[in-house]
Amino acid sequence: MSDIPYKIYLDESDLPTEWYNVRADMKNKPAPLLNPGTGHPLTAEEMGGIFCEELVAQELDDDTAYIPIPAEIREYYKTYRPSPLVRAYNLEKRLGTPAKIYYKFEGNNTSGSHKLNSAIAQAYYAKKQGLKGVTTETGAGQWGTALSMACAYFDLDCKVYMVKVSYEQKPFRREVMRTYGASVTPSPSMETEVGRKILAEHPGTTGSLGCAISEAVEVAVTNPGYRYVLGSVLNQVLLHQSVVGLETKTACDKFGIVPDVIIGCAGGGSNLGGLIAPFMGEKLRGERDYRIVAVEPASCPSFTRGKFAFDFCDTGKICPLAKMYPLGSGFIPSPNHAGGLRFHGMSPILSQLYHDGLMEAVAVEQTAVFQAAEEFARAEGILPAPESSHAIKVAMDEAMRCKETGEEKTILFGLTGTGYFDLVAYQSFNDGTMTDSIPTDEDLEKSFATLPVVPGT
Ligand SMILES: *Cc1c(COP(=O)(O)O)cnc(C)c1O
Repeated sequence: MSDIPYKIYLDESDLPTEWYNVRADMKNKPAPLLNPGTGHPLTAEEMGGIFCEELVAQELDDDTAYIPIPAEIREYYKTYRPSPLVRAYNLEKRLGTPAKIYYKFEGNNTSGSHKLNSAIAQAYYAKKQGLKGVTTETGAGQWGTALSMACAYFDLDCKVYMVKVSYEQKPFRREVMRTYGASVTPSPSMETEVGRKILAEHPGTTGSLGCAISEAVEVAVTNPGYRYVLGSVLNQVLLHQSVVGLETKTACDKFGIVPDVIIGCAGGGSNLGGLIAPFMGEKLRGERDYRIVAVEPASCPSFTRGKFAFDFCDTGKICPLAKMYPLGSGFIPSPNHAGGLRFHGMSPILSQLYHDGLMEAVAVEQTAVFQAAEEFARAEGILPAPESSHAIKVAMDEAMRCKETGEEKTILFGLTGTGYFDLVAYQSFNDGTMTDSIPTDEDLEKSFATLPVVPGT
């Protein structure tokens, strides 16, 4: 249908005024976070020591379907939203597929990803509570950048613990964060008790998100006026990211687009959870069916090879336990893996939906992902983030299947960000030195052994 524009831009007035909380429509709610000491669900009071009050309320709210977006957050959203829904005409032509491919592009802001959608909300609630600052971890650096931007906007101090391998591979990302006023420390560091312990046990470790989370949480709970914020996994983050799906749904409805399959990459699950939220809502309420596919790296295969179980969110085992599809908090992905999505756990909401058969998951290898990324870049012009390229790869595979069968399916995927800071990874792909590393069953058994024993589960 050529009456669909290349880019569907919504008006400012189409910007959602409420986030959608998919938990309200889930029959089986995601399991609550547990106190690792007692094995009991965390109370709001216990969570309040780590997280901001309003965010705790959102974390625990399984019932309110629509939560108003405060005006101050919407004002900031307006600086880079609504984001476009793009019809990938050029990619379709290149592939020679009868499928119609759409992507929601979240890379049009300085952080280069969807993460700003939650960063701005979390910084707002921290400011409203009168805090001095927030601490966090960052892997590839997009979350740290997004949070630095949000903290600069609301005048909050921002301490970022950056996974060491990324800190070394991505010095420019670090400088962006510092430009926005954040302090950036490579993790594990000697600054925290847990960092010193991890370094003593694993000298020379390149770090992991799990380590960096432990450090950021320790600094938050030991410094008055600070709280910890997290860029993915948590229910509150998926709630904020629903803005992505709500805009997509509005754009689809305006042009009569009905996706047959919705595809997203999954690290901690926030972009996918956000993109699918209103569509999953329809599915849960029995109004319409969609195929929903999570794509993860074969080197960090949470859904496809993890266990539906409680696990720590961090390596230092000081964080609450969440019921996810974890690989074990002791899992550290191979340093060969350049493609992001390195977290050992997964959103409890998506984990429950996956467990209930409401969505599928596939794992893909990084060389195939970069191959898809380059094909996409050459056709569509956008240089995609490696994370996003996992979704591109599976969307392209789906389009190629349509070419074989002649089906004119409508494929929607989330293009979560741009890859300007990932050129070391692109370089290794272009040089032909990139390899695939897939953990063996034995490797996974070792990290599964780090799963906690939780009484009564
Ligand atoms: C962080 C990030 C992801 C993965 O995180 P999710 O919480 O799974 O969405 C994907 N794409 C980009 C560009 C990111 O920055």
